[in-house]
Amino acid sequence: MAKILIVEDEEQLARFVELELLHEGYEISKAFDGRVGLEMAEKENFDLILLDIMLPGLNGLEVLRRLQISNPTPTILLTARDAVMDKVSGLDAGAIDYITKPFAIEELLARVRVALKNHPKMIQDMVKQDTNPAASSEGQNTSESKNGKQSEGVYVWNKLVLDNKRHEVHYDGHLITLTNREFLMLETLLSNMDIVLSRDTLLMQVCGYDYIGETNVVDVYVRYLRSKIDDVYDVKMIKTVRGVGYVIRSTE
Ligand code: CA
Repeated sequence: MAKILIVEDEEQLARFVELELLHEGYEISKAFDGRVGLEMAEKENFDLILLDIMLPGLNGLEVLRRLQISNPTPTILLTARDAVMDKVSGLDAGAIDYITKPFAIEELLARVRVALKNHPKMIQDMVKQDTNPAASSEGQNTSESKNGKQSEGVYVWNKLVLDNKRHEVHYDGHLITLTNREFLMLETLLSNMDIVLSRDTLLMQVCGYDYIGETNVVDVYVRYLRSKIDDVYDVKMIKTVRGVGYVIRSTE
């Protein structure tokens, strides 16, 4: 079950939110102080953090900034005031959402559900590996296959090479021209090799989490990618996992 950290100095509010989340089946930890909250979030891997902005010790935005460097974790900000600046700086600092106090508990629960669905921690972990070369050399591909991440921003699948820095994709030395979104989609699948990604997750990665529209745009991009890669080079790179989403497997 998802582990959630609540960092909120209004102890009654923290307790109330904790009870509601426990009732939903989540595992909960609490901190009433920014500094303590940061320490807990650095030590333990939470799936989600509910973070108040006005906190003793260290304010929420500072906690968020430091955590982005040490252990990026999906975070929803709790803002007491309806302060636009706080929200903007919060989102700039890497928060995925915010909710203004006082809030209806149903709204908070709904946002928690959406956050956990759209921002699974494994994606965050992959992003973290990207920024942490030490971690990527250990935790990466232990299989025999050479498929996967080859170096910083370079992903390989059989004869396909995606180079993020050059923003180029080659198959057996041939340049493949992709649109920005096709490129992003392919990069997301390659950087999460062997992990089945849901349409929602892919949509969030490719179109942004505030995208409002049909998730079948994901299927459309997959079709474009297949027509530019699979069909041309006679391979089956992107696998459909019925009822779930898509995956690129390292062993094929
Ligand atoms: Ca507060």
